Amino acid sequence: MRMGGTPSTHKMILENGKRFDGRALDELRPISIQAGVLKRADGSAYVEWGDNKVLAAVYGPREVHPRHMQNPARAIVQARYNMASFSVSERKRPGPDRRSQELTKIISEALEAVVFVEQYPRTTVDVYMEVLQADAGTRCAGLTAASVALADAGIPMRDLVPAVASGKVEGRVVCDLNREEDNCGEADLPMAILPRTGEFLLLQMDGHLTYDELMQAMEYNFRALKVIYELQKEALRKKYATAQLEEPVVLPKPEEAPAGEPGRGEFHEGADEPPEEGAHGPGEPPLDGPEDHEGGA
Ligand code: ADP
Repeated sequence: MRMGGTPSTHKMILENGKRFDGRALDELRPISIQAGVLKRADGSAYVEWGDNKVLAAVYGPREVHPRHMQNPARAIVQARYNMASFSVSERKRPGPDRRSQELTKIISEALEAVVFVEQYPRTTVDVYMEVLQADAGTRCAGLTAASVALADAGIPMRDLVPAVASGKVEGRVVCDLNREEDNCGEADLPMAILPRTGEFLLLQMDGHLTYDELMQAMEYNFRALKVIYELQKEALRKKYATAQLEEPVVLPKPEEAPAGEPGRGEFHEGADEPPEEGAHGPGEPPLDGPEDHEGGA
């Protein structure tokens, strides 16, 4: 949470009980997770979460340099959280700062608790998180992406790590703060768990919450984490999905071509007829565009 941000010029919780971006108090922003997006990393993931865009890449397990950092009993997990200069509205000075060092530390600790580090003594598992566009909740998006990237790299781990930050805005507890809510709100509660056991891997709190508000924010977080966990698994399933024949299959008979239509050996790709009404080429937008055309007559 960035305290002391510019106060909002408008109300963030509207009369109808919705938030300024149209969400209900207990709604997540749209999230998409993709596994295996980088060819040269051992594992990778890309997360879009509201207006956040975060890339995670994993290398390892590989030899530790400098060697004095090696642990003869287990692997070390070295994560690095970095925010690109162009990820925020005013150019951010490149390189590590206190904030990124803190996030690097808490994310490394969370990940080290899930990787079976004792299986790879003397090695390091390096996890790079690059925030390409930031809109609050980037530590959570980074951790969510990092654990998918670790799984994508085939690194044995206890579970995936979903993370989310709920908080308080204008006296109301809300799920998954966006940047404006984070900057002008009263509290922020980032949280990550190990879904299989419910163990906490990350729990921070900035600002003030009463006991009841804290319980409410945690409840939102738990519910959101369930959704995010399913998305993480789905992203990995998609990458490794294979189309397969479960049993031997008798080949289907060739279909009889009805009279007048091209038969075998007479394949006419996209013949010279005009396209059907409403049809358009792959990747081309429909000509009429969406209904909510801006300025449309
Ligand atoms: P998180 O991104 O995990 O919520 P913070 O609460 O520290 O972490 O930051 C909230 C948001 O404030 C960030 O996601 C980003 O949009 C913005 N922000 C953080 N650091 C900077 C910075 N140096 N310059 C501009 N905006 C920043």
